[in-house]
Amino acid sequence: MDEIIDEVMNDLKSYLEYLKGMGITSLPSSGIKSEEPRPPQILSLEEIQKELGDCKRCKLYRTRRTIVFGEGNEKATLMFIGEGPGYDEDVQGRPFVGRAGQLLTKIIQSINIQREEVYIANIIKCRPPQNRNPEPDEIQSCNPFLMKQIRAIQPKIICALGTFSAQTLLKTDVKISALRGKFYDFEGIKVIPTYHPAFLLRNPERKKEVWEDMKKIAEWLNNNQTVST
Ligand code: URA
Repeated sequence: MDEIIDEVMNDLKSYLEYLKGMGITSLPSSGIKSEEPRPPQILSLEEIQKELGDCKRCKLYRTRRTIVFGEGNEKATLMFIGEGPGYDEDVQGRPFVGRAGQLLTKIIQSINIQREEVYIANIIKCRPPQNRNPEPDEIQSCNPFLMKQIRAIQPKIICALGTFSAQTLLKTDVKISALRGKFYDFEGIKVIPTYHPAFLLRNPERKKEVWEDMKKIAEWLNNNQTVST
């Protein structure tokens, strides 16, 4: 038996050497899965930003000024995810710093949480020309980096701001008006969609709904005794 194994091994070795001589240095896999799929690797925010680099994965790199990676507490319990940078964010390289951002800061403070305690990111990291809506290929190119950020931060609860954020995270095309104010699950993290602050600037009468949603977040955080550090 040992001799047969030796013979097969020698034949295999010669065959592989022959292939190598032909310039073939790797073989296609058999398609048989020998291992369980590995859980996604958790990188630090710094590593994720390094991997993102001077991103040119979608067409937005041609018109953007800066990549707006996201900012805030790396260990935030509460994370906000908006749509994408506007003019001010593109200039400053920080999320939610324009008028909508100032309103977001007030919305966060309305539940006695400081902006620095949370993490703020967007569905896409580069400003679309004329602030148009993000396109599906742009969302798709950016999504792996947002997913890595969420896994790095491991928030307990995510507040999805507006249609694009809620629909992308929840993989649905249900309207934001129907999604808002309810809790959903994303990889074991609570997600609560609410209206986007820019929408509130145009429709201030809808602020009370956002206030209701924020109270739900505060209540959930109280009941789950989670503290941002
Ligand atoms: N709107 C967003 O969705 N994100 C920002 O960062 C700013 C405005």
